[in-house]
Amino acid sequence: MPNTKTLVLIKPDGLAKSLTGNVLTQLSETHLQIIGSKIIRVSAELAKKHYEMHRSKPFYNDLIDYITGKLHTRHKVMALVYYGENALEKVRDICGDTNPELADPESIRGKYGRILTSGLFENVVHTSDSIESAEREIKLWFEPHEIIFDIYPSEEKVLKSYKKLVWID
Ligand code: GDP
Ligand code: MG
Repeated sequence: MPNTKTLVLIKPDGLAKSLTGNVLTQLSETHLQIIGSKIIRVSAELAKKHYEMHRSKPFYNDLIDYITGKLHTRHKVMALVYYGENALEKVRDICGDTNPELADPESIRGKYGRILTSGLFENVVHTSDSIESAEREIKLWFEPHEIIFDIYPSEEKVLKSYKKLVWID
């Protein structure tokens, strides 16, 4: 089996329910490597790019509100990149079906997910569904220097002028 990489997001319901440890422990059963991780506040722009293929779905607006944290007390997401043999399939198996009611009860979504009376699927995690979507999503959520391996070709570029937030001495 080839080595692959995949993006995992612990969604705002996972953070609001303090499930980070549980999710990471369950994912560690895969014996894959984490090669990038961070906590981020998701902008509407990033959310819309991430879910662009679902633009025409009836649940799209709720999905954008969900991933940007508008529906939960913790307005943030934990983003991780997993790497190793068959990473894509292993992580998708452990995460379980998109619909938490259909997910294997021992999967992350089966254990910790729920469907709200509003119809929202609170399914705790996102994970990429193909090699192509993993590449698109990892490049969207991470910059090359935030990943410890050179997983995709990158180049050094001298930028003419740009603003950057720096610590005050
Ligand atoms: P995933 O790859 O398993 O996350 O599933 P999809 O890519 O098909 O959908 C993206 C996300 O949209 C899911 O994780 C859910 O949060 C949400 N979603 C998908 N299908 C439905 C649905 O039928 N109803 C609702 N309310 N949300 C859905
Ligand atoms: Mg998907």
